[in-house]
Amino acid sequence: MPATSGARRPAVFFDRDDTLIENGTLPDEAFAGKRGDLVDPKWIRPMPGALAGCRDARARGFAVIIVTNQGVVARGGATIDEVEAACVRTIEVLGGEVDAVLACPFHPKGGGSNEFCREHAWRKPAPGMLVAAGDLFGLDLTRSWMIGDAERDIEAGHAAGLPSKHCVRVGDGVDLRHAMEFVSRATGVGHG
Ligand SMILES: [Mg+2]
Repeated sequence: MPATSGARRPAVFFDRDDTLIENGTLPDEAFAGKRGDLVDPKWIRPMPGALAGCRDARARGFAVIIVTNQGVVARGGATIDEVEAACVRTIEVLGGEVDAVLACPFHPKGGGSNEFCREHAWRKPAPGMLVAAGDLFGLDLTRSWMIGDAERDIEAGHAAGLPSKHCVRVGDGVDLRHAMEFVSRATGVGHG
């Protein structure tokens, strides 16, 4: 059943790196001094199934929200503006099928000397970004999903109150297409 008018809609929260866009498979030159710190827009490339997954989620009535730790800012490897540009490029390569990107620039051991070198409620595995998005966009977290490649993504979903079986870890044989099959089965809406 489609949501009734005024009902809070659910979201599919996606991790960014190694979930929706490539990271671990990229060469060293793609990174800002440290492997994993991806801010150069020209290296932002979608993972297989990412565009279809985002499009499918929205077609099923979900908001598509990307939640990404960007400790590169705390490490002094990029500015907030550079992270924002990378996130804008991420939305572009995903065909615009994204409602919002939330990024956490904080890291307690960033090693830099800026105000972002501290722990923060938004940094996964804490649920802050999911909870904030829920408030900002009027989301029903109890019907939402979290899809990511790292244990911290799954922990953030649990901590935000998402159902356990709605927190799906990709990698090791489970790719985005599999993850979206779980979503489609649970929502009981057939393809096209
Ligand atoms: Mg990741």
